[in-house]
Amino acid sequence: MTCYPRLEIDLDKLEHNAREVVRLCSASGISVTGVIKGMSGIPEAAARFVSGGCVRIASSRLDQLEEVRAFGIDVPTELLRIPMISEADRVIRSADISLNSELAVLKALNQAAGKAGKRHGVILMAEMGDLREGIWDREELMETALAVENDLEWLDLKGVGMNVGCTGAVMPTAETLEKFSKIAAAVEEKIGRPLEIISGGATTSISRLFEGDMPENINDLRVGEQILLAWDLDRFMNYDLSNMYQDIFRLKAEIIELKEKPTYPIGTIGFDAFGHIPTFTDKGIRKRALVALGKYDFGSDPGEITPIDPPGITIEGASSDHTILDVEDAGPVRLCDENGNVTERPLAVGDIVTFRVNYAALVYLTNTPEVEVAFV
Ligand SMILES: *Cc1c(COP(=O)(O)O)cnc(C)c1O
Repeated sequence: MTCYPRLEIDLDKLEHNAREVVRLCSASGISVTGVIKGMSGIPEAAARFVSGGCVRIASSRLDQLEEVRAFGIDVPTELLRIPMISEADRVIRSADISLNSELAVLKALNQAAGKAGKRHGVILMAEMGDLREGIWDREELMETALAVENDLEWLDLKGVGMNVGCTGAVMPTAETLEKFSKIAAAVEEKIGRPLEIISGGATTSISRLFEGDMPENINDLRVGEQILLAWDLDRFMNYDLSNMYQDIFRLKAEIIELKEKPTYPIGTIGFDAFGHIPTFTDKGIRKRALVALGKYDFGSDPGEITPIDPPGITIEGASSDHTILDVEDAGPVRLCDENGNVTERPLAVGDIVTFRVNYAALVYLTNTPEVEVAFV
């Protein structure tokens, strides 16, 4: 018996997307660090990042790096989130490289690395204006680089990195990348040797490759979304991604109730299950379906999932365990018998609705034990 809700992952398509990103990047001398946090580090999928050509596997979460290691993936692992001092020992054990911005953390890592007798690679993050992680003060950046290079004997300064487009929604413009490129060159001059990794950002920085103005010394990108979903650069930046698959992940949920109902609640409207006061438009009586899937599974925003099959379905709302669909205009269910004859019938209770998922929903769905993950 197939279980629902169910998240189907097409691993061959995933590997294809990884290979396409690697092909594009390597044409400009750029390596791809595969970022697996968007699908909670599922190791079977992480393995396809590697077979597609990613040279490192990165995540913000140590448990995901540990899981891929245990699965037998042997490329270097990279911790994306600045380490907690309290997890320094574990960082040394589970990550070969970490992104850093604090001298106190680096000292703790150095000590832990010495204790374990295992060297640890460091990428120093430069703050470029997105205002999440990174060293803003240029003098501090140089001094920290020198400290890693000369004083912290168990740490190897692998490189420098930048990150934009996360909390500040700052775009990786040519100007920002150019600034970062100069910072990287200045660090190299300060330590008197070239850096191995100059990491120019995440998926959004791929736009610089499309525009052909990526600074020459940038030799690494940390890419998750463009491999997993290949959606952002298409939807927000209008790039042609027809060589990429955008349907690697498919969410399937089962209809548990199907009835004609009014679209405007009956009774006095107060607040919903989450304490919000909702608004409704009265569209008269419509055919509505409830699927056994809710915010518990995909996170707080039902806008993060989109019904695609059968066609013509819209989402009306969701609570923790239910999602309400308007199926008034839904296309018929197509059934294929053993002889290949196709028959059509209207949607019924027990039928399955398929959804496309966005990044945030994917994070939740792959983290929810009740959503069955299946490889197809
Ligand atoms: C998540 C993350 C990435 C990957 O971002 P995508 O948009 O998924 O490519 C890269 N770098 C850092 C520091 C991250 O936290």
